[in-house]
Amino acid sequence: MLQPPPAEPGMREEEVDTPALILDLDAFEANLDTMAGFLAPTGAKLRAHAKTHKSPIVALQQIRRGAVGQCVQKVAEAEALAWGGVPDILVSNEVVSPRKLARLAALARISKVALCVDNAEAIALAEQAAEAAGIRLPVLVEIDVGAGRCGVAPGPEAVALAERIAGSRHLTFGGLQAYHGRAQHIRTPEGRAEAIHAAIEDTRRTVEQLRQRGLDCGIVGGAGTGTFRLEAASGVFTEIQAGSYAFMDVDYAANQEAPPFRHALFILTQVMSTPKPDLAVVDAGHKAAPTDSGFPQPWQRTGLRYAGASDEHGNLRIEGGTPPKLGEKLRLVPGHCDPTIDRYDWFVGVRDGRVECLWPIAARGAMA
Ligand code: PLP
Ligand code: MN
Repeated sequence: MLQPPPAEPGMREEEVDTPALILDLDAFEANLDTMAGFLAPTGAKLRAHAKTHKSPIVALQQIRRGAVGQCVQKVAEAEALAWGGVPDILVSNEVVSPRKLARLAALARISKVALCVDNAEAIALAEQAAEAAGIRLPVLVEIDVGAGRCGVAPGPEAVALAERIAGSRHLTFGGLQAYHGRAQHIRTPEGRAEAIHAAIEDTRRTVEQLRQRGLDCGIVGGAGTGTFRLEAASGVFTEIQAGSYAFMDVDYAANQEAPPFRHALFILTQVMSTPKPDLAVVDAGHKAAPTDSGFPQPWQRTGLRYAGASDEHGNLRIEGGTPPKLGEKLRLVPGHCDPTIDRYDWFVGVRDGRVECLWPIAARGAMA
């Protein structure tokens, strides 16, 4: 059930009901500007990942700053964006359900859409859906450049799939999807560079082999918030798919030479019990603040450590500083921004301590 907004415009942040997802609008806008400014001289374009923000409002702000469009992982995310006016959407993922493919093909009437494949059978399924809808669907070949997730091997296997796409009556060959997920959180810059340089070389070689067969890559896409500076400088990648950059989280901030973005996303939580001198319990447990990438961290509060989570409770250890009072509200930096945003129906946009806007998280829970 869609939850009512936890705030009204004009309220002070302390009045917002908890737990709530706070977006610091100054930091968020600065992050969008930083990414746009960084990419402008590289020639690579941003196709920001909407799996993070799940909101056409955010997508259109990224596009206004030069992004060519959006990535999604799910057809339901593509629908939320297309219906919200996003004109160019890449499903950076495999889709093999005929029903989902039919939904995607139907969306092609209102937005430009493309998807990825890593298998000949998947090409046949996409061809059937495109034919039934009477459209031509751009299809990218996903190559595994080290993530060990989806994707065919770079080189001849990828070329064979591309030729099969190009030979399909209702498909066009759209390029390569080459995302190295595992590299994003390698802590040292040297480790990230080593992983991404190998990914760049695999991708470069495959692009060249395709060119020799007369197949040009409209899109060579990949990269996330941890490594985008490397792919953008490669001269091989044309599109950067970072998503977390707009918000940041504890996990990305823990990278050495962390990405150059500000914390813009917070969980506002309230102290609901102070049972011991060294313990304050807040109303954000792991349902409100997912812990798959580690605990959230209290924001700008020395001596407070989020040390344990159950479904509805978060335990803050008091190790110094001023202990929080019963009823006090404080901000937590999320451990991992993507699943955190997916837990909320609303971004509560705050500037100078006041609620400025409430943006629905339209694709929240979009899993299909
Ligand atoms: N591209 C793809 C295909 C992804 O799956 C992801 C995240 O997992 C990203 C890009 C980058 O995301 P982020 O910048 O949030 O790490
Ligand atoms: Mn993530």
